[in-house]
Amino acid sequence: MIQIRHEMGIILKSPREITQMRGAGRVVAAVLEEVGKKVRPGITTAELDDIAVSEVKKRGAEASFKGYRGFPASICTSVNEEVVHGIPGSRVLQEGEIIALDFGALMNGFHGDAAVTVGVGKISTEAQKIIDATQGALQAGIAAARIGARLGDVSAAIQSYAEARGFSVVREYVGHGIGRELHEDPQVPNFGVTGEGPVLQKGMTMALEPMLNAGGWRTSVAEDKWTVVTADGRLSAHFEHTIVIDENGPGILTKL
Ligand code: MG
Repeated sequence: MIQIRHEMGIILKSPREITQMRGAGRVVAAVLEEVGKKVRPGITTAELDDIAVSEVKKRGAEASFKGYRGFPASICTSVNEEVVHGIPGSRVLQEGEIIALDFGALMNGFHGDAAVTVGVGKISTEAQKIIDATQGALQAGIAAARIGARLGDVSAAIQSYAEARGFSVVREYVGHGIGRELHEDPQVPNFGVTGEGPVLQKGMTMALEPMLNAGGWRTSVAEDKWTVVTADGRLSAHFEHTIVIDENGPGILTKL
């Protein structure tokens, strides 16, 4: 179990900084949309990385993950039982698989970070269910992210949404604050207790990123030292948005 760090270093953003972050977030959304459109049986994950590279460059931004702690690519591609941090390569996508695409962009000094999980061709009802539940869990977390709420309210909203649908939430990897740094305080677990944790304030910017497993929540790391996989080999899905806490309610920054 990871240690959860709390409020120590939360950096609140000014309206001007939020505007900058929207710019980075828009690039992230556009790149994910372009890459997502290319997902089909027969394409390799390395080809998806190439698309991400050209699309982010076209928009005058940089890929946040390239070289981050030594990560060798620009986008994370996590297929089926892979949870997060999959490295693009020669793997050829097959009909019926699901793939999580996680991408971050740096523009004007600020990062945006988002993820989607999509099906490769026609997928099973079971695969569609975990995709829908993960997307729904993210929306539930976003809806709870209001001024005056506690961080634990967000975590608990994600967890209860997921577990009510029969899925488990990954414990060892969590969401995070984001801004000038890709990972800032606070850590944002996808499990927790209502009423606990720091109070959410205007100007907080966070990446919420539920990772749901069809089986148990435990994970392990593959031989490449990056790819996180479910311990039981069952399916996993991942969705993420960068959001801002605002008086008008939570705002999604990683959208077009
Ligand atoms: Mg993230």
